[in-house]
Amino acid sequence: MPGRILLVVLLLLGAVGAVAQPVAVARSLAVEATAEGARVRLGLGRAPAGEVTRFHLTSPERLVVDIAGARADRREAPGTGPVRAARVAQFDAQTVRLVVEGAGPLRLAGARFVPGPSGSTVLELDVAATDAAAFAAAVRQGRATLALARPEPGPLAEIAALLDGSAGPPATPAAVPAEAVRRAARRPVVVLDPGHGGRDVGAISVTGGHEKDVTLAVARAAARVLERSGRVEVRLTRSDDRFLTLGERVALARAWGASLFISIHADSAPNPEARGASVYTLSETASDREAARLAAKENRADAIAGRDLSAVDGEAQGVLIDLALRDSMNASADFAQALQQRMEPMGIRFRSQFHRFAGFRVLRNLGVPAVLLECGYLSNAEDSAFLFSREGQRLLGEGIARAAEAWLTGS
Ligand code: ZN
Repeated sequence: MPGRILLVVLLLLGAVGAVAQPVAVARSLAVEATAEGARVRLGLGRAPAGEVTRFHLTSPERLVVDIAGARADRREAPGTGPVRAARVAQFDAQTVRLVVEGAGPLRLAGARFVPGPSGSTVLELDVAATDAAAFAAAVRQGRATLALARPEPGPLAEIAALLDGSAGPPATPAAVPAEAVRRAARRPVVVLDPGHGGRDVGAISVTGGHEKDVTLAVARAAARVLERSGRVEVRLTRSDDRFLTLGERVALARAWGASLFISIHADSAPNPEARGASVYTLSETASDREAARLAAKENRADAIAGRDLSAVDGEAQGVLIDLALRDSMNASADFAQALQQRMEPMGIRFRSQFHRFAGFRVLRNLGVPAVLLECGYLSNAEDSAFLFSREGQRLLGEGIARAAEAWLTGS
């Protein structure tokens, strides 16, 4: 397994590596619309060690943010609202410069580091339009240091590095247990994973709706119920319409010390009569052809990300299942039962053979009980209407929440 040997070598080098100071590397740049204007998100492998400062320039109006202790290749992102465009590049040996070009006078309304996917850090800048006088005053003010809280350094730098490179999926379930054990003393952590998102829309319903919207709505409904009762901690791998690779979802769950992982999906089938929910758990061999077909479909997100891990995966998978995942697989099957037993009496229809097995990539490498719930069929008119209805989403969310809570707290 050359990939793994390479990885070990890299980790060893990292351990010796007082020589090469780790540096924040800019990996992504995006501008999103917000209610107040726009948010610029600069993805960094880790929080930069140095100062972050800002100043303003005229003709055209620009907000400039310098990040010391960072590296970047040149990237650009189209803007929205008050932002015409954003670009990032290496300014000098130590400094990365992020330039936010305004559609007119603009101001920095907020700035923070937030945890990004897979242990990375995102510098978020909230940008709003302002008037010419306020902008002129900001230009005169010159350079100012931004007081930004650094996110806690997690055990995730290695996972981030893994996902960043071509090394393949997180290959060592043993890498995180310390974190998982520490968490165990606290409330159990349920990680809800709304399937698909962003450019990966998932299945398309009979009326043209997207699976990614159903999965997010159901996950949010479940999170609300869990937060209200407060007996377990709840995390969402995504809480808006964004794209995550399957590896990133797994890495987040591991970073959070998940006690239980529930990936939420909705299926579609050529037969418009097919309907009802099913719960899937991981196995090396699929329980039936349909389960195999479904796994292939749900695993496509990584192909969408332009990263085909199947070569690495096939080899790693068997080893990981043998060594680390036996117990969690049994527990997963147990939770699959609990889910159905809780949800069916609430009026949620399940398929007669509701528990199936297949090689779902998002359930791999977790080492914790994990299921993939297909809430129903978007190719069936009645299921689709239910899945897109507020009431249907509320009911599904409530069922998932109650089942998870009862299973984790033994009540
Ligand atoms: Zn799906």
